[in-house]
Amino acid sequence: MHRISMLDGSELPVNKVMAVGRNYAAHAAEMNAAAEPVIFSKPATSLVIPGEPVILPRERGSIHYECELLVWLKDGGTNLKTEEAAALVAAYGLGLDLTLRDIQAEAKAKGRPWTLAKGFDGSMPVSRFVPVGAVDNPDQLEFSFTLNDEVKQKGKVSNMILSIGELLSYISQWITLERGDLILTGTPEGVGPVSPGDNALMVLHNHLEQPLHFS
Ligand code: MG
Repeated sequence: MHRISMLDGSELPVNKVMAVGRNYAAHAAEMNAAAEPVIFSKPATSLVIPGEPVILPRERGSIHYECELLVWLKDGGTNLKTEEAAALVAAYGLGLDLTLRDIQAEAKAKGRPWTLAKGFDGSMPVSRFVPVGAVDNPDQLEFSFTLNDEVKQKGKVSNMILSIGELLSYISQWITLERGDLILTGTPEGVGPVSPGDNALMVLHNHLEQPLHFS
């Protein structure tokens, strides 16, 4: 069973992983794409938890970081209303939706799925997680991603096109959500390449900091 770690050292099981592309207008613009959220999934085998090495693929073209807020669900459901869906969130964390950008561009051009570009082994390094009870204002959450001491991305939940509740509700109209599901909520603008040897820091403001080393 795949798992995530909480700040207190406890662990939670991970079931499936769902993700959304283009959930921030400024990122959609930098990708020359319509600001229209796109749902996809990553396999649970893409997870890399703190303490495990982050090993980038070789010989597969450009690899981009996309730092995102992640939510872990304590329960699930089908056809959920926005408020019901939002109430399923039990923990927040940060993660990277690592993307083989050249492979993805080729898939887009050929009308093929993004699965290999987004779902390869090691494509989702994550932070430790904080329980919802520790977050007073989830609608005001902010995060940042720093690469080699340079701040590259700043994200605000309030800038999402689909709020977390709306995103979960939307997914649940098509795919039943279950306990242990991990949802990536989209990346803000500022994505770019990452290489072996780079060092990064993911920060969920006032809650957690997660250093990463890429090899
Ligand atoms: Mg992404």
